[in-house]
This record gives sequence, structure tokens and C-alpha cells, in this order.
Amino acid sequence: MARKRGLQSMPLPGTKVRLTGYFLKCTGQQRGSEGLSRWTIVACECSLCKGGDHVATNEPAYLPPGMYDDLPVEQRPKWRHIALCNLEIVGAPPRANDYPLPRPRAVSPRAIRSTGRTGLQPL
Ligand SMILES: [Zn+2]
Repeated sequence: MARKRGLQSMPLPGTKVRLTGYFLKCTGQQRGSEGLSRWTIVACECSLCKGGDHVATNEPAYLPPGMYDDLPVEQRPKWRHIALCNLEIVGAPPRANDYPLPRPRAVSPRAIRSTGRTGLQPL
């Protein structure tokens, strides 16, 4: 299935990425630190990365207590993994699919008459 948003292919290690505006908007993180975060892709051979939908970043993984206790240390996730569809390359031109434009709002003539406002923003 073709992905419509975010990265379309696995970025090379060293690529600088950030979360897409769409993802931040959907998760209510536009004002949070996640929106300012930038990561560098690191090489990773885990099953998640081999699946092709996720990629490893240079942020150390958060390991919930107890969750990976049954795995040897070297098999526990080392890096934070992020879904490709939520990432874009830093500096790349924004893609339309990643930034849904607000639909122009229809304003009823009655609303204009009663408030004097057209709903249009001055340029
Ligand atoms: Zn991985």
C-alpha cells in the first residue's frame, strides 16, 4: 500500500528528519517540544526497521520498565523508532499531503448581514 504522507522510502543513515506538521497537528503537539525535535537517522537492523515502516533515530529508546526484561541487553531497542509516514526530511519542501490546508469556510449571507464579517482574512 502506498503511503500518502511522510517519507516514501527509507532515508539513509545521517539524514536529518523531523515530524510532519500533519502528525503534530493530529496529535496536538504543535506547541510541544516534539515539533522542534530533529533527529538523525541511524543504521539499525532490528525487525521493525526491516519491516520498512519504521526507522531508527539517534534518540536513545525509552524502555518501559519490565517490557524488555526477557530480552538480552543487546537485543533491546537501542534507538527511538518512528514511523516513516510521520517523518519528513529537514529542509525539504513541504508536501501538500503533509500539510492539509484549512478548507475555506462557507459563510452564509445571513451570518455576514448579522455580524458584518465575511470570514475572510485580510491579505
Ligand atoms: Zn530498528
